[in-house]
Amino acid sequence: MDPVIPPAVMFGLARDILRKEMGQRIERRREIGRDTPDGVRLTSEISTLVQLGQSLDETTAKQIIAAGRAAVEARLAPPRMPRCDASDLYAQFPDLLPEDAQVWVGPGWRAILTEAFDALKGRPVVVHMAREDRAGLRLVVGSVGDWKEPDFDLAAAVADRTWARSLKICETCGAPAANGSWSRYRTRCADHAEER
Ligand SMILES: [Zn+2]
Repeated sequence: MDPVIPPAVMFGLARDILRKEMGQRIERRREIGRDTPDGVRLTSEISTLVQLGQSLDETTAKQIIAAGRAAVEARLAPPRMPRCDASDLYAQFPDLLPEDAQVWVGPGWRAILTEAFDALKGRPVVVHMAREDRAGLRLVVGSVGDWKEPDFDLAAAVADRTWARSLKICETCGAPAANGSWSRYRTRCADHAEER
């Protein structure tokens, strides 16, 4: 950044970039609705941007201008892959999901997840977690009361099958996964290799 730029101009420029970022998020939130999981995420990003604009110091302003959008994105570190709407799953499988369950799954794995939930439905079990973990879809299933052998075996089999299937399917789009340098960290087709 050129040091002769007066601070007032520099702050103004940085705020413009932030405002643009905010505007885009507000627009996106209008499209998808405030109450969706993505809408909630956008709301929190918008408030981060507001705070960033309010407590702007010279170093941050310079960084924002120098790196433009990249600096803003890095600060927010947004998950770029959309995640499944967990409220659908809560509606579909109310007995299987305790309120504090962690569901964080890309749309490409939605079918695998639904199949797993279907297999567990009606059993005295709950799913505490369904999310990506070391590139696969990890299910953590607990029992309601003490474990009974058939339920335990079923839960283990479903979790294993879900994990194995997820490693073959792009979490973003559901296409067959491709192998690449990213494969250890995330399961993706070549088109979505960079999506986090
Ligand atoms: Zn894909």
